[in-house]
Amino acid sequence: MLEMKSKCETCEASLPMDSGDAMICSYECTFCARCANDTLKDICPNCQGELVRRPIRPSR
Ligand SMILES: [Zn+2]
Ligand SMILES: [Zn+2]
Repeated sequence: MLEMKSKCETCEASLPMDSGDAMICSYECTFCARCANDTLKDICPNCQGELVRRPIRPSR
């Protein structure tokens, strides 16, 4: 199962599991949409992988 990190690795913004603003790479590095789009240009700085929107896991 995908580990769900709850914080952006760059700015530490809170990214709850049901947030639509979380972006991940295939190694599960996790970033907020703002960092991913503006700062990182959709490329993971750790592994150079593509960042895609993390699927929402409903809290209920
Ligand atoms: Zn961020
Ligand atoms: Zn990565």
